[in-house]
Amino acid sequence: MLRGLILFILFTQVMAGRWGQLCDGNPTNRVRGKDRYGRGEYGAPRGRRTHLGVDVICSDGSIVHAPFTGRMVRQLNPFGNNNAIDNGAMLEGSGYCVKMFPITAQRYTGSVTKGEVIGRLLNIQDVYPGMISHVHIQMCDTSINPTPYL
Ligand SMILES: [Zn+2]
Repeated sequence: MLRGLILFILFTQVMAGRWGQLCDGNPTNRVRGKDRYGRGEYGAPRGRRTHLGVDVICSDGSIVHAPFTGRMVRQLNPFGNNNAIDNGAMLEGSGYCVKMFPITAQRYTGSVTKGEVIGRLLNIQDVYPGMISHVHIQMCDTSINPTPYL
């Protein structure tokens, strides 16, 4: 009886904690491995700095989905250099706040449902040829590793 209850709680926590598929063509949210620019894991080295998000493999131009139910908060310019991939979106809801880039979103306000199409991946190959194209997702609080939610 107690064990059943514990299993039920664990199960519901796992189900609540899992985000939906982020990108078309990658149903398991597979993370970018090594390429000549680095690795996609949270905490991977980036020169002197570390990678503050996790990179989920996604082909240039692919459809990107809302990972959870919530709302679009605002548009982002993550690199601040106005290049071809300097665009993204902040989303909040279901206990999460995340930044996703490089994507172009259909809109940057209003509510979204988990799995809903929010936009497309920008053309990473135009800026970083040979990189494993991906959608970068990081928590608004970058001290939190988002990987367990994938
Ligand atoms: Zn990244």
